[in-house]
Amino acid sequence: MGLLKDKIALVTGGSRGIGEAIVRRLVEEGANVAFTYRSSSEKAESICSELAASGAIVKAYKSDASSYTESELLVKQVLEDFSRVDILVNNAGITRDTLLMRMGEDQWDQVIETNLKSVFNLTKHMLRPMLKNRSGSIINMSSVVGVFGNAGQANYAASKAGIFGFTKSIAKEVGSRSIRCNAIAPGFIETDMTHELDEKTKEAFPSSIPMKRLGTGNEIADAVVFLGSDMSKYVSGQTLSVCGALNC
Ligand code: NAP
Repeated sequence: MGLLKDKIALVTGGSRGIGEAIVRRLVEEGANVAFTYRSSSEKAESICSELAASGAIVKAYKSDASSYTESELLVKQVLEDFSRVDILVNNAGITRDTLLMRMGEDQWDQVIETNLKSVFNLTKHMLRPMLKNRSGSIINMSSVVGVFGNAGQANYAASKAGIFGFTKSIAKEVGSRSIRCNAIAPGFIETDMTHELDEKTKEAFPSSIPMKRLGTGNEIADAVVFLGSDMSKYVSGQTLSVCGALNC
């Protein structure tokens, strides 16, 4: 407890799944948290009121991470409300799975804009205030699919692979100002995203994972706590795989 005492975090896509687990874990470790969602207003508000009982400041913002201008307004508003951001977690993501033969331009564009352009949008707008503070930890949610590829996920795999190059480049650009940038590559994690997969794929999961089970949002959130805290203060430009040995 208390690894993130007095830190302020901004998490995109914090209303469900991995993002919700991250918001809850950051608060447990003493952080105040701003988080975004795209449409789950009720869910987001109930997370805020539940966590407010712990004494933390937790605020939800409806903001489309794929929009450059909405991201700019979001960062402005969060800085007004919280005064600074120490930890940025670029977590928002979607899938639009289908084989390339059937993939439409819209399915390609939606996934690239939500999963990859969003990382640019938020990081770009957050960087100046972090440079001013000469500190910050940026954590980008990628996937093992970005390492291996996956049939039916060319759009998703491309978006997640792009995050690796972006992460390393930003780590090199701003390392001298004590700003760190790392990626997390989850394996298969139990959330709405994996529930939506077809039954055949879901049945095949446990046998294909060396640890014989899906991961949990909390297990990804633990990695975020590590990368957001001073325990990792000399770790930058890296990818931490949290995948039950899938990526080894
Ligand atoms: P999820 O359960 O589907 O939740 C997605 C979250 O992102 C929701 O809070 C959603 O908000 C938000 N979101 C979606 N599009 C957005 C946008 N344009 N702007 C702002 N917020 C947006 O997904 P998840 O499984 O937790 O995945 C979270 C991240 O982990 C994603 O980047 C995903 O690619 C990555 N990941 C997941 C797995 C897995 O197995 N689940 C594995 C590897 C990587 P609403 O509730 O309002 O829709």
